[in-house]
Amino acid sequence: MLAVVYAGYGADPVLTQVADPDCPADGVVVAVGATGVCRSDWHAWKGHDPVTLPHIGGHEFAGVVVAAGPGVTGWHAGDRVTVPFACGCGGCEHCLAGDAQVCPRQTQPGFTGPGSFAELVAVHAADANLVALPADVDFVTAACLGCRFATAFRAVTAHGRVRPGDWLAVHGCGGVGLSAVMIGASLGARVLAVDMSAAALARARVLGAEAVVDAAVDAAGPDLAAAIGELTGGGAHVSIDALGSPAVAAESVRCLRRRGRHIQVGLLPGGPVPLPMDVVIARELEIYGSHGMAARDYPAMMRLIADGTLHPGRLVGEVIALGDVGRALAAMDGPAGAGMTVARLAG
Ligand SMILES: [Zn+2]
Ligand SMILES: [Zn+2]
Repeated sequence: MLAVVYAGYGADPVLTQVADPDCPADGVVVAVGATGVCRSDWHAWKGHDPVTLPHIGGHEFAGVVVAAGPGVTGWHAGDRVTVPFACGCGGCEHCLAGDAQVCPRQTQPGFTGPGSFAELVAVHAADANLVALPADVDFVTAACLGCRFATAFRAVTAHGRVRPGDWLAVHGCGGVGLSAVMIGASLGARVLAVDMSAAALARARVLGAEAVVDAAVDAAGPDLAAAIGELTGGGAHVSIDALGSPAVAAESVRCLRRRGRHIQVGLLPGGPVPLPMDVVIARELEIYGSHGMAARDYPAMMRLIADGTLHPGRLVGEVIALGDVGRALAAMDGPAGAGMTVARLAG
């Protein structure tokens, strides 16, 4: 099969011929229809998140099952599917409780093994992790779901518990941030988006943000949290660090109103970061980490996509070919573009 492979951290990803993946006994092999290019792939490529080299990245994908192992009961060749980026083992206490996203034995195509920047990708524990794609959800749209959109959905709904009229602050308007903007606005929240890119803020406005704050301007001016407090009449009810930076995480906590909720979604590969715990206790804030979403929780999200409440397809910025994935990764050395980049292989 063809795959995008890099030999070392930061080395050029090259489209090349490699052996097809073996089908796990409890898993499937999926012919990739489309695969997103995510900042987490960039982190792995840069060596922030160790992988086995040489490596094939890619963890947000949709496609068609081409082979199923003997232990798989629910899936067959020809099924259109997607998967969460964190695939549970299916058998531990966390998986059995429906929390595969924190399974200690989880597998992640593109991190713990070869990923979806390839014509074929293997998925373990298929019965626990595959999600059926409705016929009217195309592969490019579905490739947005597995990581950034599902992560944003769970952050906004399960952790954030946003209600109509609540202020939702979203810090960082890359793929996961813009997803959170759209989901929050669609569910009736008043969304305030923060970024340093004018293009990303313009996109946030289109996706439903009522207010935007240009962090590049405000960093030099008044305190960002104070500016958000003023715009929201006392602070955000829910705030998400969708970028992943110590400074942004602290700012996200500081911009909350009393009893507010901070959700850490952006990865912090540099290790522990200080948060203003004095503010946490004084305002009785809640702090959550959000790590994707288990396959079990997809149906509620799929229903909102099917009934037209949510439009993940609108988050797609650029559709590219598999051979352009390396260039898309390199582009992430700079600030986020306006939307998700997705490589289309079929359909
Ligand atoms: Zn498990
Ligand atoms: Zn991702």
